[in-house]
Amino acid sequence: MPDQAEAGSALRPLDAMLREAASRFPGHDAIRFAGRGWTYAALDRLVDQAAAGLQSLGAVRGTRIGLCLPNTPYAVIFFFAALRLGAVVVNFNPLYVERELAHQIADSGTEIMVTIDLALVLPKLLAVAANTDLRLVVCPICGALPPGKSLLFRLFRRRDLARAPASDRIVSYAALMRRGDCPMPVAVSPVAPGDLAVLQYTGGTTGIPKAAELTHANLVANCEQVVSGMRDLREGAERVLGVLPLFHVFAMTSVMNLAVRTAATMILMPRFALPDLLRTIASERPTVFPAVPTIYAALVEEASRRRVDLRSIRLCVSGGAPLPTETRQRFMALTGCDLMEGYGLSETSPVVSFTPPDMPYKEGSAGVAVPGTTIEIRSPEPPHALLPAGERGEICIRGPQVMRGYWQRPDETAQSFVEGALRTGDIGYLDADGYLFLVDRIKDIIIAGGYNIYPRVIEEALYQHPEVKEAVVIGVPDRYRGQAPKAFVTLREGGAATAEVLRAFLGDYLSKIELPREIEIRETLPKTLIGKLSKKALLEEASGGPGALPPAPPLGPEAPDPFT
Ligand code: AMP
Repeated sequence: MPDQAEAGSALRPLDAMLREAASRFPGHDAIRFAGRGWTYAALDRLVDQAAAGLQSLGAVRGTRIGLCLPNTPYAVIFFFAALRLGAVVVNFNPLYVERELAHQIADSGTEIMVTIDLALVLPKLLAVAANTDLRLVVCPICGALPPGKSLLFRLFRRRDLARAPASDRIVSYAALMRRGDCPMPVAVSPVAPGDLAVLQYTGGTTGIPKAAELTHANLVANCEQVVSGMRDLREGAERVLGVLPLFHVFAMTSVMNLAVRTAATMILMPRFALPDLLRTIASERPTVFPAVPTIYAALVEEASRRRVDLRSIRLCVSGGAPLPTETRQRFMALTGCDLMEGYGLSETSPVVSFTPPDMPYKEGSAGVAVPGTTIEIRSPEPPHALLPAGERGEICIRGPQVMRGYWQRPDETAQSFVEGALRTGDIGYLDADGYLFLVDRIKDIIIAGGYNIYPRVIEEALYQHPEVKEAVVIGVPDRYRGQAPKAFVTLREGGAATAEVLRAFLGDYLSKIELPREIEIRETLPKTLIGKLSKKALLEEASGGPGALPPAPPLGPEAPDPFT
């Protein structure tokens, strides 16, 4: 377990950063979305109103409030509103299917869900709410658009909208904000830095979905660590591009929290589409651009075809997945931007390391530990002895950004710490100068475009099919996303399911990105000496031989969203 005295040190609650930005830079844009702006003063007022509105729904300190939203101003307003009243934010991926949402709602004890009137999202939550006590706050997408775009959306994209039925458990954004017209003092007792702020779902090292408990102190500490590591972030002057989804821990900190901490403008994009991204960069002139390697790779392809003007950007930060050296070098040569790689995970709020601008870059390295953080390399086997520089082992982390544990999972929490340091499930080494190099993972995850996919979740979904006898899922190389899931299955006697049948079946259990790219049905599957299904044998098979890599998917303007 981490040292809570350290984690809960004299830091302030997260939303104090917003109050400070609003008092120092009231007229400065906090958010830009679809060409509209919200100043820090306006955002702070909206957060007060939303907090009071949530209180009128019964939210108190500790209430779990879910956010199931694409990147829109609502995501920022309700994130800080929940925190301001001492409630706990639960981040939801709006692309999850109904079952996944229902599971996360039940596991976290989410009582109120803030969502949006989009056909891709709302019907799933209405279905969950019909069988539970969940209350919904429904925000209108058109309400966040400038008048012209709002009218066009209503006229031409009607099918993308969904309506909520009248119900005493569903409240519209407008009604909620009216309740909050006269904000009451929102916090009964002041929010303390050691209070729980966010439940961030992850598979951790075991692949079982669970929530990392991140406190206000964890999240504030991580902002401070990044700010002091970056050295030259200018208060009130940066413009941070938010194309990564804010429900993902990387964007939550490196886009939203960091922007608020430095009174920067966050430029929010609801999804990744290359033409929109290029237009937004041209019109909004961001200076800081955090993204995953897949997005930089798509930009490289585009920049090699035509001139891509990224001159406004000073700082690109890649995280979430390994950044291929070739992508970094080509990106920098074509765009003239510096591209630094960072490393982190949900359990560490997330930033652990990156290369500060004033330190030499070492090829293939994820940089050095951010201030106040210790990276230890330990033997992956008990008793997890400390290993010297140059030796490979499990990366373990100590620092004020390390979670206090997994929500309601004391056993998994206990297994995840060794002598107070967090076990990451990643394998790496430190060189003599303290630079971290990642070489492998012992945890069973597939990283597709920076998004984690847990083979175990897919395997369990496959086992729900009555004809499936055995199922193994591995990550296979994918030229665009880095990795993609592939399933191997054997069927019970008499079973006649085809790959297409199984794929259609999985659609109810898994979101699009989790669906295996390929399902191979075999007579038998390789086993280990003790008779367990052998992923290792299948991985070896998949990595060898010609044709292991599938044909490259189209890049450039057609590059698919890495998160869908
Ligand atoms: P998550 O908890 O979803 O943020 O996923 C964290 C995991 O992503 C880490 O434990 C690593 O396995 C992986 N990861 C994050 N950053 C990097 C990186 N720069 N290089 C390689 N893997 C990374």
